[in-house]
Amino acid sequence: MFLILARWQSLPLYLRTLIGMAIGTVVGLWQGPDAVSLAKPGSILMGLLQMLAAPVAFFAIVHALISTTIEKGKTPQLIRLLVTNTIAAIVIGLTVANLIQPGKRNTLEKEQAQITAQAAQMQDSLLAAKQSAEEATLLDSLYHILDRLPKTVLGPFTDGNVLGVIVLAMMLGIALRKVSPNLPATASVVKVFMDAFIAMLHWIVQLVPFIVLGVVAAEVGQHGFSSFVNLLWLVVAVIAALALQFSYYMLRIRLQSWVTPGLLIRQCRDALTMAFSTASSTATMPLTFECLRNNLKLRKQSANLGALVGANFNNDGTALYEAMAALFIAQLCGIELDFTQQLVVVFCSMAASVGAAGIPSSGLLTMTLVLTAVGLPLEYSLLLIPVDWFLDRFRTMINVSGDMCVACVLDGKTPELDQTSPASTSSSV
Ligand code: ASP
Repeated sequence: MFLILARWQSLPLYLRTLIGMAIGTVVGLWQGPDAVSLAKPGSILMGLLQMLAAPVAFFAIVHALISTTIEKGKTPQLIRLLVTNTIAAIVIGLTVANLIQPGKRNTLEKEQAQITAQAAQMQDSLLAAKQSAEEATLLDSLYHILDRLPKTVLGPFTDGNVLGVIVLAMMLGIALRKVSPNLPATASVVKVFMDAFIAMLHWIVQLVPFIVLGVVAAEVGQHGFSSFVNLLWLVVAVIAALALQFSYYMLRIRLQSWVTPGLLIRQCRDALTMAFSTASSTATMPLTFECLRNNLKLRKQSANLGALVGANFNNDGTALYEAMAALFIAQLCGIELDFTQQLVVVFCSMAASVGAAGIPSSGLLTMTLVLTAVGLPLEYSLLLIPVDWFLDRFRTMINVSGDMCVACVLDGKTPELDQTSPASTSSSV
């Protein structure tokens, strides 16, 4: 028994997840609709993830704010870059999701009737939030969003209000920078808390293969493979949107820095490969820095800001995914998100991506905050678990590419003068 357990644990998580999917499919086909109860543990897992989401985001932001030093003159440019890249990511994500409509593919008539009935119920519960938006002017929408600012210190943690968590974390981070007599010591205390919550997340993530087994069995048992067609469309849509975001970075680099896209890919491919294989932008960070500084020969300050600050605040791939996933779930439930609600998705996805720690599956964690913010049911996000590990690799690659883009643009139109490497020679052509 111990031997089997040890063997099982020694397999990489993605392999265990695939095994879970395969067994789940067989169980679903065998048990039919009876397999529905197997999805229950999944809802418990989502609850646990929801519990961890706010503290992980909170400590990640406070830690990022108190442990990063940005040289004064560069701050406005850096903020502009981070914000515009993230907005581009979310706009691309929402556009692709609205065009492809992955959540509306292959819905059987019977299911469509069920979904419409459920949607009607949910629409009622969303009505309160929507009513104010009905005749909403832009100012009303703004107030609607500002209304999510925290009213008590613990409030955002108990009601999963992502905007509240972010605002609180930012205020605390800035305040600590002002009052802390020993900032590095304070930063290490905050890091201990952050690491502790991340350790808890790792425990929960170990359960994912079993949860996937249950979710897949319940889905296959009830609906056959129809919902997987939707899921497949989501995978296609997310990968297409991430590819567009990558092209956007390359264009920006081409226009706003001395680096050419070909050169960047050649010199930094190790970091991109590592991002894909580890699904962790934080684990990749040292290699990202090394590629930018030693291979590409960016100025030290640009490489630093891109890799270190970027890895903390800049998770465009995650932002894009959260926005698309929220829209996907709304489409699955047959709910139309109006402009104001999509605006809330934009804000929350931005905020959640800042709070996403650069570790595997943290996007899944912070997604619970985005769904809660727009009032979408968390149960539907269970469906994403079977494909999340796979999409995580792609979005991590984009997170790291985003950091590289920031570093290159910060480095400006001219390379550092004293370069003698082949990198600089090819770039000056
Ligand atoms: N795994 C991603 C990263 O490390 C975060 C996410 O889950 O989206 O950047």
